[in-house]
Amino acid sequence: MTSTMEWIRRTYDVPARHGMRIEFDGKPATIVGAGGGYLRFRIDGEKRRTVGHPCYRIVYPAIPEPVRPRGWCKHCMQDRAMTADGVMGRHHWSGRNYSGSRSYRWSKPCPGVGEPPWKPVRNLTHPGEQREATS
Ligand SMILES: [Zn+2]
Repeated sequence: MTSTMEWIRRTYDVPARHGMRIEFDGKPATIVGAGGGYLRFRIDGEKRRTVGHPCYRIVYPAIPEPVRPRGWCKHCMQDRAMTADGVMGRHHWSGRNYSGSRSYRWSKPCPGVGEPPWKPVRNLTHPGEQREATS
């Protein structure tokens, strides 16, 4: 089970996170949530939240490259560190099982360890459509 914000990061290669400062249509704004594949953010000075597509008129801040390259594990589909050989580093994955009225958490080594990533993690700042500059 993954959060919608994680789904947005994975799908659009953008660094979207709760509380991140972005620019929407040239105006400063703050990300306040995500839902249904859309971002919710509040433009500075406005009371109501705006809902927008993660690639529509949004500019994300430049994120420094991580010390170790990261990739999306194709097994657990999470953002994980890669080894120097370009394969997924050691990590566990976890979940919750239900048995009748009881539930319990489990955690075990991820089968994706040692395999190439589904794709590398990228932090794009200008992923998609922007309003054309008026000259
Ligand atoms: Zn994994």
